[in-house]
Amino acid sequence: MSSIVLFGPPGAGKGTQATAITNLTGLPQVSTGDMLRAALAAGTDLGLKAKAFMDAGQLVPDEVIIGLVKERVKEDDAVNGVLLDGFPRTIAQAEALANFEEIDMVISIEVPDEKIISRICGRYSCSGCGAVYHEIFNPTKVSETCDGCGSTDMKRRADDNENTVRSRLDAYHSQTSPLAKWYGKRGILFPVNGNQDISLVGAEILELINSR
Ligand code: ADP
Ligand code: AMP
Repeated sequence: MSSIVLFGPPGAGKGTQATAITNLTGLPQVSTGDMLRAALAAGTDLGLKAKAFMDAGQLVPDEVIIGLVKERVKEDDAVNGVLLDGFPRTIAQAEALANFEEIDMVISIEVPDEKIISRICGRYSCSGCGAVYHEIFNPTKVSETCDGCGSTDMKRRADDNENTVRSRLDAYHSQTSPLAKWYGKRGILFPVNGNQDISLVGAEILELINSR
């Protein structure tokens, strides 16, 4: 099997849906946002370079991100493909990706802008296993305790505030959304309705993958 791209605006539910896709396909999730945050936490040059862009809600320069993904897909667990989450985000990234990885499907999770701010501003995640939650739409069953791994260490992202979200949405519309047409022309864009319950979005995605 080749790789799958999870596409959509920030807060569309890409990370939320990634676990079920990974379980179904065996493809490892490759989230460029997670990789950048890990680099930042480790204090590497890459993390320091990315920080100002992330804080401002802007895209990190193409050459930095492309190099990161190109190296990641050389790792052993990526031999049958990967599940890309948050990459590509520009036409230049998609063109570069096409030169080093075969993409089978681009699953586009469609959510209207007016839903994005509340989704992102209520997001939190487990420091232990990375599971993503939402204060209202998807809270942990026991307050502040991860349903999956039981950790009580929950965290919020530094860029999940209203100002930054607006910049991230602007970047999405100007630089990322043109990719839908780009992949549509290549016949591999599969839209799903992301504006419904998490379980229903998941069911649509799994049906799509199973039908391939
Ligand atoms: P992305 O990875 O696309 O940025 P996430 O998966 O982190 O988005 O989801 C953003 C926030 O919205 C999280 O708090 C998540 O729990 C919540 N969320 C995800 N999918 C839905 C949905 N279908 N309905 C309501 N909230 C959702
Ligand atoms: P995400 O976790 O996908 O919401 O990404 C968080 C931030 O990381 C974005 O706002 C960008 O600053 C940066 N980032 C992640 N992926 C990319 C990418 N493919 N291209 C450029 N910047 C990215």
